[in-house]
Amino acid sequence: MSDCLFCRIISGEIPSKKVYEDEVCYAFYDIDPQAPVHFLVIPKEHIQSVSQVSEANAAAVGHIFAVIARLAGELGLESYRVVSNIGDQAGQSVHHLHFHVLSGRDMTWPPG
Ligand code: 5GP
Ligand code: ZN
Repeated sequence: MSDCLFCRIISGEIPSKKVYEDEVCYAFYDIDPQAPVHFLVIPKEHIQSVSQVSEANAAAVGHIFAVIARLAGELGLESYRVVSNIGDQAGQSVHHLHFHVLSGRDMTWPPG
């Protein structure tokens, strides 16, 4: 989608600091980190949010979680949080499915 920020990041039109890429997903550091380690993992296919995940595209989500586990291991993250905001009230500001991976500081529960 040409008007989607994250689709433009995937295409390289908007630069980003890449963590990892394969044919299904792209991982890059968040421009406004909320923890010492904060990167995003997104499907290359435009999916609006978790609300649009179905049996037809769920394989990409499963793959993304396997990638998150592998990257966390490679980066030596012993404890981390994976977050996906769905909808405006939950704080979703970019409407392309993404999983935040945050690590390197104490975290509180419940999230604000
Ligand atoms: P959301 O608020 O939708 O859950 O998460 C969107 C995230 O994208 C935010 O944490 C925000 O800092 C990040 N972000 C927004 N624009 C850019 C950008 O141009 N580059 C990068 N790397 N991250 C971005
Ligand atoms: Zn998109």
